Amino acid sequence: MIFGSGILKGMLVTLKNFTSSYFKGPDEGGLFTVQYPEKRLPEKENFRNFPFLVFDNTPDNLRCVACDICAKECPPKCIYIVREFDKEGRPLKRPATFDIDLTVCMNCGFCEEACPFDAIYMDHDFEIANADRHDKLLYHKDDLLKSNEYFRKIRPTNASAVDARRHEAEEKKKAAAAAVAAKAAAPKPTPPAAPNSPAA
Ligand code: SF4
Ligand code: SF4
Repeated sequence: MIFGSGILKGMLVTLKNFTSSYFKGPDEGGLFTVQYPEKRLPEKENFRNFPFLVFDNTPDNLRCVACDICAKECPPKCIYIVREFDKEGRPLKRPATFDIDLTVCMNCGFCEEACPFDAIYMDHDFEIANADRHDKLLYHKDDLLKSNEYFRKIRPTNASAVDARRHEAEEKKKAAAAAVAAKAAAPKPTPPAAPNSPAA
């Protein structure tokens, strides 16, 4: 073994990487540092950052029913929900207020796991830096709303599984409602005549 051969080998690897970095991209074994923000690596589907609220078709069709489960499960308690009420003071199945303090959120995803209504999922958006930590990093309901199409785009596997499950549940609900309606519409059987009635 020649003295210093290891050092020489190491220097050759360094030289190879140095020269190839000028001619090859990160996928070809060349430059390993992506020149963000001009260039970006594609995000992995299961990458998660902060939560968002899913709506179907229009923001009025928010899936959230203001059950408060996610707020109770959130470890640092950074979700704040107030239920909406109608004019008569009856509670509605939707939130009037839904705030998440992104400066406190620890990106754990427990809210997503806890929600029984497929209403809250973890987002890919990470470019939320802001100088105003009070107003701009306390996300209100309107800041959190994103469509199911967006969910399908960023997390197609999860979104299609959720869509299939929701569709199946909807079909079961419709079939049960149709069965109840058919039973109600069916002619009632004529009761047998009493033994001492005039017709007997
Ligand atoms: S996001 Fe889900 S768990 Fe949280 S309040 Fe809405 S429906 Fe309930
Ligand atoms: S990701 Fe975790 S910390 Fe952030 S809002 Fe959801 S439960 Fe709370």
